[in-house]
Amino acid sequence: RKFIFVTGGVMSGLGKGITAASTGRLLSNAGFDVTAVKIDPYLNVDAGTMNPYQHGEVYVLKDGGEVDLDLGNYERFLGVDMTSDHNVTTGKTYQHVIQKERAGDYLGKTVQIIPHVTDDIKRRVREAAEGSDVCIIEVGGTVGDIEGMPFLESLRQFAHEEEDDDILFTHVTLIPYSKNGEQKTKPTQHSVKELRSIGLQPDILVGRSPDKLDPETKEKIALFCDVPTEAVFSNPDVEDIYHVPLMVEEEGLDEYVMERLDLEEEALPPAER
Ligand code: ADP
Repeated sequence: RKFIFVTGGVMSGLGKGITAASTGRLLSNAGFDVTAVKIDPYLNVDAGTMNPYQHGEVYVLKDGGEVDLDLGNYERFLGVDMTSDHNVTTGKTYQHVIQKERAGDYLGKTVQIIPHVTDDIKRRVREAAEGSDVCIIEVGGTVGDIEGMPFLESLRQFAHEEEDDDILFTHVTLIPYSKNGEQKTKPTQHSVKELRSIGLQPDILVGRSPDKLDPETKEKIALFCDVPTEAVFSNPDVEDIYHVPLMVEEEGLDEYVMERLDLEEEALPPAER
């Protein structure tokens, strides 16, 4: 099984979810069973108690689970049904770990974030991925947030435990423009530096900006962030988010991901896609 982790840098609300869902859509077009997990690093057990004016509307799943709107994007982009188990929150994880502690399941051990919380996070991701060829895991929030740390540490452990060609890290960042119209890569460089400081090296970088990234911008990101230029993709503003998969396909995101994960395109008839 393959795991694709999607993190975000510079600011929230960048388009991480749409980038993750688009990657999934392209892989499902290529014939793979794709599922997704959304990680929300907040202490609410689920999104049901959150103010929709602050957080966006709550998305209700078929099993009654009240989750983040991103799960709706995954269902629509991937054409699959999600369950509450596909939304992992800090609240759910801690609640479970503390219940186990009270039941004496840890046999007198000191219960700690590493390994008990991180083990629970990894278990949840692996269980949600069961039955799929590829699982896309989006980590909510921005790299550097205190809330996200146990999740990013779990990702680092994941990379340590899985084969190199079974795991891929995509980092989505903002590429702002200077007053003279130049695309600026410094925020991306800082964000990747932050990722590296916790032991994570992105394989793919996706730059969100009003327009496509210039070739020079891609080269600069590649050089500073230590990825091949072909691993840097644009995700410019579009009028309709359903165009994003086609746009990233044009730049060859699907081919790059399949090559990197050693996935052979399955010749499915178009009707079955
Ligand atoms: P994040 O997961 O980083 O919080 P989302 O994927 O939820 O971000 O996207 C944030 C908002 O930006 C959503 O309203 C989404 O529809 C919009 N968006 C994402 N990608 C694009 C794009 N390429 N062009 C225009 N709007 C986009």
